[in-house]
Amino acid sequence: MARLAYVNGRFVRHADAAIHIEDRGYQFADGVYEVVTVLGGGFVDEAGHLARLKHSLGELRISMPFSDAVLKLVMHELARRNGVRDGYLYLQITRGVAPRDFKFPKACKSAIVMTTRRQRFSPVVEEGAGIRVVTVLDIRWARRDIKSIGLLAQVLAKQAAADAGAFEAWMVDPDGFVTEGASSNAWIVTRDGVLVTRQADHSVLHGITGNSIERIAGELGIKVERRPFSVAEAHEAREAFVTSATTFCLPVTEIDGRAVANGYPGELSRTLRQHYFAYGLTRQEQAFAWPK
Ligand code: PMP
Repeated sequence: MARLAYVNGRFVRHADAAIHIEDRGYQFADGVYEVVTVLGGGFVDEAGHLARLKHSLGELRISMPFSDAVLKLVMHELARRNGVRDGYLYLQITRGVAPRDFKFPKACKSAIVMTTRRQRFSPVVEEGAGIRVVTVLDIRWARRDIKSIGLLAQVLAKQAAADAGAFEAWMVDPDGFVTEGASSNAWIVTRDGVLVTRQADHSVLHGITGNSIERIAGELGIKVERRPFSVAEAHEAREAFVTSATTFCLPVTEIDGRAVANGYPGELSRTLRQHYFAYGLTRQEQAFAWPK
């Protein structure tokens, strides 16, 4: 069975899929995206991802190419046709195709592309499977709440991580506080067992996975504080982890070459991962609230 992509209204062979050279996404990064996990044949946190997609599009005044119902239908159909039971779906919407000019074109039809990829997920983190993180200066723009396809700063951050043998880069603001990972949200657990992650304002992407992790933690009676934490505080933490659609909740065991606590995946991170996994299989649709 040939792998398929969805491009502007048609299911096409992935190998043949193409977009126009004057697509504004290609020329200006004038577009947004979402990555939604497929677990056990269904999407996880679908409502949250669609809510964030609309937020991103709305802030850039790009129109949704079609209704929610049709969008969901196409997403499910592409996953089904590609036989993806576990993996993820990538969805990108750009302002469309127009002769190159910075300002918005008068008449422009949004362009949409979707692809899928298979990936196996496990609720269990093995003893040695924590990740290494390096810190880098956050050199991105000021509207990080928009899930823009302009990802050059994250490309450089991820490469810096790879060059250092690490999995993720934590980006740090000029005051020494961690904003988020290059493609994940950053969390620590304090010595008192409090979960800390940055407040979801314009300085970070409001993570859909983190939103659910926060709710799950609340249900387990764990306190969550949304505030900035410094790299120094992270070095002293009892645990650290990242959250994202493709990593779920993944323990961090080393930051800039220094072990987090005893250097093994933390208890709480592992528990939260298992609960998130179980939640992901329930197909419950949790409401997603934008912070005031
Ligand atoms: N921050 C950034 C910069 C990201 O790219 C991602 C991954 N999309 C996240 C946070 C985590 O968001 P989510 O949990 O919705 O995948």
